[in-house]
Amino acid sequence: MPIVQVEGLSKQVANVSDNDTLVLLQNINFSVYPGESIALIGPSGSGKSTLLGLLAGLDDATSGRILIAGKNIFDLDEDARAKLRGEMIGFVFQSFQLLSSLTALENVMIPLEIMGVNDARDIATRILGRVGLEHRLQHYPKQLSGGEQQRVAIARAFAPEPKILLADEPTGNLDRVTGKRIIDLLYELNKEHGTTLVLVTHDESLAEKCDRQLELIDGQLGVESRG
Ligand code: ADP
Repeated sequence: MPIVQVEGLSKQVANVSDNDTLVLLQNINFSVYPGESIALIGPSGSGKSTLLGLLAGLDDATSGRILIAGKNIFDLDEDARAKLRGEMIGFVFQSFQLLSSLTALENVMIPLEIMGVNDARDIATRILGRVGLEHRLQHYPKQLSGGEQQRVAIARAFAPEPKILLADEPTGNLDRVTGKRIIDLLYELNKEHGTTLVLVTHDESLAEKCDRQLELIDGQLGVESRG
């Protein structure tokens, strides 16, 4: 069974300037199977981030369904959606989104503590070691380089062992070499944990590392490629 099924998904918003509607996504259909890696590619403004936000249950669609492990997220109320997100979904952002007043270790502990995990500190320490930051546990985000901050964000996303990891341009704020290391790390963790990865990227060489590439053009899904 697919872990993600997107069926007839459309999203429109009111365009205040000309009193018309703006179509952000139009009749999107695709399925993602457990452990797969999918790259969402396409020009800027084609709807990639909108789609990722919908997959995360952070936004509402105009029509259509998104089934996560068979459950339509739009049938769930806010609390149930947050619960599903907490149990199933990790998110890595372009801008890292670490809490500046917390250390690297505390940032990674947060989702575990929210879940009520007892040994949050041990798990967070272990995963920070896995991403090569065992010597940076007590550093605050501003004391870390961009690549290190993204590694903390990746550790935070993987720590609760989500079934699905959504990543929105995770290398967008990094130089090429650092970006490549981050992507390698994402794929390694994806394989080790059997996580399903949905990655938005502009970078075709990164997209090619995924099992499948789905291209969005003007809010519509174009031809799918594999590789
Ligand atoms: P991408 O991630 O592919 O660059 P986005 O999903 O961010 O594209 O945006 C798709 C288009 O929708 C863009 O033209 C963007 O300006 C527009 N857009 C996104 N969200 C809204 C919104 N809430 N209201 C109006 N326009 C929006």
